[in-house]
Amino acid sequence: MTEIGAGITAVSHGMKVLAWLRQVDKNYDAAEFKLKISELADALYDAKDALRQANDRQSVDAAEIERLKSNFKRKGELVRGEGNYQYFSKPNGKPIGYPICPRCVELECRMVELKQSGYYNEAECPVCSKSYNPVTCYYSDGSEDGDSDEKARRKSSEQSAKIAELGLKINGS
Ligand SMILES: [Zn+2]
Repeated sequence: MTEIGAGITAVSHGMKVLAWLRQVDKNYDAAEFKLKISELADALYDAKDALRQANDRQSVDAAEIERLKSNFKRKGELVRGEGNYQYFSKPNGKPIGYPICPRCVELECRMVELKQSGYYNEAECPVCSKSYNPVTCYYSDGSEDGDSDEKARRKSSEQSAKIAELGLKINGS
């Protein structure tokens, strides 16, 4: 970016020199000289415009690279959970929350955690709106050694969901 920025500065300086030249050119009174000055002005404007565009695009590219680098770093922290989905992980390496949207990872290298969209095992991507079912949500209990609590919670969540499904079947038939 600094090279392009310096290029813009140099071209800007050239344009100032050109403006000065334009003031003295009437002493020469030569049509061709004026035409050349005009061509030079056009070229300088074009160069400045191109440099500015390149500078803008590079800023966008740099931001995109930062986003991808950050995502790759986070991808290293992803773990596999049930259904072979990828999850963000807790410091102890256990999955936490809903899975990462496989579609967004595949297409845009974007780590988007799914959000519940109905039953406990139904989730939707807040970015691409794709739905996934069934999925498992891993709960956190906030403590370091709470694996058994976590399992118990998950089991109780699964059980209550099964009971809810059973209720639906009974009511539905
Ligand atoms: Zn998605």
